Amino acid sequence: MSAQLIKGKQISDTIREEMRHEVEQLKAKGVIPGLVVILVGEDAASQVYVRNKAKACEDLGYYSEVVRLPADTTQTDLLALIEKYNQQTNIHGILVQLPLPKHIEEKPVIDAISVHKDVDGFHPISVGNLMIGDDALLPCTPSGVIELLKRTGNSPAGKHAVVIGRSNIVGKPVSMLLLRENATVTICHSRTPNLAEVARQADILVVAVGVAKLVKEEWVKPGAVVIDVGMNRLPDGKLCGDVDFDDVVGTAGWLTPVPGGVGPMTITMLMANTLQSAKRAHGIV
Ligand code: NAD
Repeated sequence: MSAQLIKGKQISDTIREEMRHEVEQLKAKGVIPGLVVILVGEDAASQVYVRNKAKACEDLGYYSEVVRLPADTTQTDLLALIEKYNQQTNIHGILVQLPLPKHIEEKPVIDAISVHKDVDGFHPISVGNLMIGDDALLPCTPSGVIELLKRTGNSPAGKHAVVIGRSNIVGKPVSMLLLRENATVTICHSRTPNLAEVARQADILVVAVGVAKLVKEEWVKPGAVVIDVGMNRLPDGKLCGDVDFDDVVGTAGWLTPVPGGVGPMTITMLMANTLQSAKRAHGIV
């Protein structure tokens, strides 16, 4: 038996269609969701991400601004720009593309973004609200993972979910979201002994490590749902995940491909956060 593929591109397109309808309703009320993406420096991968975010805005009819700042921009100037957008009422989401150049500290920059416009969900207040189960703008990749599970009928409730990776961007928030969805959650990381053995207990295995093809067939319980967040560039230029797709596809019940699995969901959830933020700013629930 071969795993059923979780087609992130298709699910992402469906969500965008649903949002398109909501955007039209908002526009009829005179509200246009607005997102600003701020890029400091010339990082090649970041340039692509920023372009894709602007394209997604255009596609959904959002107002969007992309601010490209030189690599030697000072932290003070960046903070002043964020404050300007915090005040600007036609902007509902502020995203500062990471990583930042070395001379700029990440934390004060993330902290400076108004929590109401924190569409990346990285602000400590957003993270705290996620932790206590309060209303928050959720980080995009983790909430995309939950959407993939729910929309393929793989509700996490009552399941044993094993997450490999404990980063603030993916591992920790996806673990909290799975817990919120009533899964029993085990979080693994680089210092977890017997990783394969722990992984093999998972009904739902989420892998966010950054090591190409780390997860092999013997790490996967037959029939398990395997969500591969990893995006690794191979020497031949091809993209591959943290899961050895060819090795695992015969054992898993469901599996995300890379590319075309989790990846497309991230920008779609960013668009969803911007929409939600615009609605809230105008008192529309
Ligand atoms: P990170 O480097 O911040 O964190 C990696 C985590 O994996 C750490 O917690 C570490 O403890 C753990 N780890 C490292 N080596 C390990 C090992 N050998 N065994 C077990 N655990 C190990 O990375 P991140 O930002 O969480 O990203 C993880 C992967 O997900 C990367 O490939 C990244 O490109 C990808 N990613 C994809 C998207 C997307 O939109 N699809 C978004 C964010 C990250």
